[in-house]
Amino acid sequence: MTVQSYYLPRSLAEATALLAEHGPSLLVMAGGTVVMPLINEGVSTPEKVMGLRRAGLSYLRREDGALVIGATTPLTRLLEPDVFPLLREAARHTATWSIRNMGTVGGNLFVPPPAGDLAVALLALDAQVRIVRAGGERTVPLSGFWTGFMQTVLAADELVAEIRVPEPAGRVAFRKFGRKQANTPAIVTLAVHLRMVGDRVADARLALGAVGPHPLRARQAEAALVGRPLDADTVAAVSELAAAECEPFTDAIASDWYRRRMVKVQLARLLTAMATEV
Ligand SMILES: Cc1cc2nc3c(=O)[nH]c(=O)nc-3n(C[C@H](O)[C@H](O)[C@H](O)COP(=O)(O)OP(=O)(O)OC[C@H]3O[C@@H](n4cnc5c(N)ncnc54)[C@H](O)[C@@H]3O)c2cc1C
Repeated sequence: MTVQSYYLPRSLAEATALLAEHGPSLLVMAGGTVVMPLINEGVSTPEKVMGLRRAGLSYLRREDGALVIGATTPLTRLLEPDVFPLLREAARHTATWSIRNMGTVGGNLFVPPPAGDLAVALLALDAQVRIVRAGGERTVPLSGFWTGFMQTVLAADELVAEIRVPEPAGRVAFRKFGRKQANTPAIVTLAVHLRMVGDRVADARLALGAVGPHPLRARQAEAALVGRPLDADTVAAVSELAAAECEPFTDAIASDWYRRRMVKVQLARLLTAMATEV
């Protein structure tokens, strides 16, 4: 069965009304970089598809220092100069120009690992996800958005409308380690946000991608960083903890053993480099 109906709502209200009317039988499509190949290859056979590209969700704006990103904003727009450097860096390492021009920021929250590089950076920056349905909305922290492999807290009648990213207050770093320098799936992606008081870590967020069912925070490693100076002993202990607590998998790109090993190696390098920042 091919697609029978294609809906192109002109507002968020129209989009959520259509979802309320049709429920899970209506496939939501943003940039279509994941959805369209699956439809074209007959893997996904939806009868009804709703495109979001006219729903008014493509924007970037600053509100009280925070960056507010509409869900259908193309990934390319995150390369603009007023975007936080960590997000620019992550966007630069996400796919190719053509995919970044079509693929959206909201869509990157739904891709299976090892993809989701931008989502890892958003997680390290403690992004909040605004979720909207007909007649209501809620905001959830991105750290609570995923519930399992390709599973989220989103109900069938809800859409991701926007992502709010607080201004980073501290040191940040991003690293995507793959088999090539560019246009490559991740073996591991890391994004780190550290707030220092004097020479000690006061607050830490360590986000990891491609080493679990979805982007995840290395909570035990974060706890071990707080109150400690960023010295060689701390870096070694924290990197070991992060490697132990992640949930890597084996695919055509790397084994679970190698992924875990690279969490330790790459995180140690990243934290060591961050230690010399002023
Ligand atoms: C060749 C190729 C290379 C890639 N390389 C990388 C890479 O290096 N790193 C990386 O991180 N990613 C990579 N990707 C993935 C890319 O980032 C995603 O394809 C893109 O972000 C998805 O966005 P989209 O708008 O096209 O999603 P779509 O294909 O439109 O949708 C994907 C899923 O998200 C859901 N969805 C989308 N938006 C919303 C919304 N607002 N509310 C509710 N549900 C929604 C859809 O229902 C669907 O299930 C690559 C993809 C391709 C095709």
